[in-house]
Amino acid sequence: MSIPTPAYAVHSPTDALVPWSFDRREPLAGDVLIEILYCGVCHSDLHQARDEWGGSIYPMVPGHEIVGTVTRVGSDVTKWKVGDTVGVGVFVDSCRQCESCLAGEEQYCESGMTGTYNAMGRDGVSVMYGGYSTQITVDQNYVVRIPENVPLDRAAPLLCAGITTYSPLRHFGIKPGDSVAIVGLGGLGHMGVKFAKALGAHVTVLSHSPGKREAALELGADDFVAMNAPDAFSKNKTRFNFILDTVSADHEYNDYLGLLKLNGVMCLVGLPNPTTVGAFALVGKRRSLAGSMIGGIAETQEMLDFCAEKGIAADVEVIAIQDINEAYERMLKSDVRYRFVIDLATLK
Ligand code: NAP
Ligand code: ZN
Ligand code: ZN
Repeated sequence: MSIPTPAYAVHSPTDALVPWSFDRREPLAGDVLIEILYCGVCHSDLHQARDEWGGSIYPMVPGHEIVGTVTRVGSDVTKWKVGDTVGVGVFVDSCRQCESCLAGEEQYCESGMTGTYNAMGRDGVSVMYGGYSTQITVDQNYVVRIPENVPLDRAAPLLCAGITTYSPLRHFGIKPGDSVAIVGLGGLGHMGVKFAKALGAHVTVLSHSPGKREAALELGADDFVAMNAPDAFSKNKTRFNFILDTVSADHEYNDYLGLLKLNGVMCLVGLPNPTTVGAFALVGKRRSLAGSMIGGIAETQEMLDFCAEKGIAADVEVIAIQDINEAYERMLKSDVRYRFVIDLATLK
């Protein structure tokens, strides 16, 4: 038995997304079935739909910023009941036994997390399909609770953009008084600004879009630098303790490393193709270059609860699923304030 599920899918790296349908598995004993209400549109969806990282599996149903309602539960489910409002992020399973999984950092599972889409299931034969669809079957342990006071459309991007920026800011111990730069003011970047401010940092946005200055300050940034100004790098040399780089396109990491103070850390979360890093950019001031990938289930719940407590949510533009291809084109032009979110009622 399986559950017919309408969706939007992409069939090759050069195709647009089109209506499609497939079967979800019936909930197993430990599974919940979730009716999807909203799904955020992450730049990773676009990278993978167009096979920019290699190895894409087609047809692909993207989407890993999922918010919905539990409609059925398996016989062993203890954590959720029908009617609960829940979220699903970038992965839906992991080995549950390795050091990372046992530490609650399932995203770094030694045998690889099971992606919400563009991935094989742990049985090695089933293909995973994401949130540009009406429903999803997920193991109860890979689901999080959406707090009551966060609007559901604005909650969806927290499942990827939110946790991906929250986790490194916490891991690297950002605290009041730190001088933090957020590079790129898109889906991830705007969440980075909100979290860094909430942690008490002095926050500067480094952007290649001069027109985003006012919006950045409205979001809570203390300062804004248009990086295409000729003196942008020289004027801001050795200014920051921490740089969170969310940029989706190739750019010169060495130039940004020069903006770090002594002992400063630049953490990459954006995933363009690799560029060169020069030893001199790090060695001269004992700087560190790091990377970070989303966050574990427990930390994702912690981030959602932090958002509820501080009144934080994503700034979104809600779209019909029929507008998804235009949304991709606008995202490529950095023309989104700051996250497209699909209203799945438009697919039903
Ligand atoms: P997005 O909304 O498209 O934002 C990316 C931002 O990068 C843009 O708004 C723009 O900001 C800046 N940018 C774009 N093109 C640029 C260029 N040519 N030169 C300089 N800056 C440019 O994307 P997103 O959804 O936030 O995702 C950002 C990146 O993070 C993607 O590569 C995505 O795959 C990756 N990601 C990683 C993780 C992880 O776990 N590490 C999780 C989710 C996403 P300005 O206009 O302000 O310059
Ligand atoms: Zn994402
Ligand atoms: Zn594991």
